[in-house]
Amino acid sequence: MPADVLLSGGLLVDGTGAPARAADVELTGARISAILPPGAGRAARVLDVAGRVVCPGFVDAHSHSDLALLANPQAHSKVRQGVTTEIVGNCGLGVTPAGDPAAIRSAAAFIDLDPSLPWPAGGTAGHLRALEAAGPSLNVATLTGHLPLRASAVGFADRPATPAELDVMREELARSIEEGSLGLSTGLVYAPAAYATEDELVALAEVVARAGGVFAWHLRDYTDALLESVAQAVRVAEATGCATQISHLAAVGRRNWGAVAEALDLIDEAPVHVDVYPYLAGSANLSQLLPGWAHEGGRVKERLAEPGARARVLAGWADRWWDWPDILVNGRPLESGEHALDLVAEHGNAVTMVAFGRREEDLLTVLRHPKTMIGSDGFALDPDGLTGGPAPHPRSYGCYPRLLARYVGEGALTLEEAVRKSTGLPAEVFGLADRGVIEQGAAADVLVLDPATLNDLSTFDHPHQFPSGVELVLVNGVAVVADAAHTGAGPGQVLRALGQIGVSA
Ligand SMILES: [Zn+2]
Repeated sequence: MPADVLLSGGLLVDGTGAPARAADVELTGARISAILPPGAGRAARVLDVAGRVVCPGFVDAHSHSDLALLANPQAHSKVRQGVTTEIVGNCGLGVTPAGDPAAIRSAAAFIDLDPSLPWPAGGTAGHLRALEAAGPSLNVATLTGHLPLRASAVGFADRPATPAELDVMREELARSIEEGSLGLSTGLVYAPAAYATEDELVALAEVVARAGGVFAWHLRDYTDALLESVAQAVRVAEATGCATQISHLAAVGRRNWGAVAEALDLIDEAPVHVDVYPYLAGSANLSQLLPGWAHEGGRVKERLAEPGARARVLAGWADRWWDWPDILVNGRPLESGEHALDLVAEHGNAVTMVAFGRREEDLLTVLRHPKTMIGSDGFALDPDGLTGGPAPHPRSYGCYPRLLARYVGEGALTLEEAVRKSTGLPAEVFGLADRGVIEQGAAADVLVLDPATLNDLSTFDHPHQFPSGVELVLVNGVAVVADAAHTGAGPGQVLRALGQIGVSA
């Protein structure tokens, strides 16, 4: 039986890090059926991809599309840049288990792009069923968020969990993994995960390790206490043997520049990987700049209204790592601490900032490290839909084209390394056994890129711009982007963990 499609005459970069080579790629149904010498294949449809790069679809190791994909299953900003699989549930943020819905929704405000987005019920199983029912254009897998886990077991109190509460969290986590989660994520700057002791993190890591999952850490601090924060993740990883991922590694604030090299030295011998996105600004809730006490009870607006609270926050900010003009809200720089407090007092956690304060040299150090993979830390956005709100970080649109155009184009990484960090490496670390590589039998998640025109066009001023040069995106053998436009197809699969033996659709 002839193959369905033959991608003929391209330069194959297979996602393993092996040298690029001239080869034809044959697809049959949802699988890659053969890799052949140029000109050797036969298929019902032959696409001439001469002058193009053929590589695996990007596996976004760090995404926040938990809710965005329910509102925007076509995942425009992700598939148009070549992402074919997203791992959601990062930074401790997530939608399950439910607990007190209002409190959890407030804590998870960063992923809650629009109040009219549906909030799925039924735990991880329910969330994954809802994603499946939405018919997504890309594949999706999830981690379990520490915030909802702790919020439902302990609430928003700033104290250690009791042994009984810890048991509840361990049981809920084990259940969530049984229902298909790939592991756990924490966000130690966000209440209530910020109140967790190291013993709690060890206890949860043991559950993840037993299931063969991954524990992703948004560290306690990326600024003045970066090294202590990395050391904590490494200690927990070594104590439990848990495969660990340090999220979006960066040293933030001029006085901390250079610390990433030492941070990377700490992870070298540990079961720890790192993800990063190729930009010099981050994005988070503006309220993250406030100290932990202001988040206690999960009611930051009410806390700020208490007598003396604003003065206490401002006093703490006297020694801060940032300058106010480096913090943008809706594309505009903040003027002062008072300005920031006014916004949080009015909108609580529902204000997103873009924060500069990193340097290029550090980004290059992180990008080049062999244990670093790429994760956008972004969302699947539709510029014309509910998720098309103001001034998102451009990483949601341009992360991968920017990596290839700018960091490969200017010689910081080889094309093979950059592709592996975006495909084979994350697939391997997260146990997505048959994805992230172009090999016979692997899932047909395949890209055709034009290296001459590949470029990210999304900027901080005009973020809702699709990249150029991503010509064809196949997900499970079906085109979701063709001639650089979305086809409307929804061939994505929900990828569920199957314990130690990897992940299956
Ligand atoms: Zn994140």
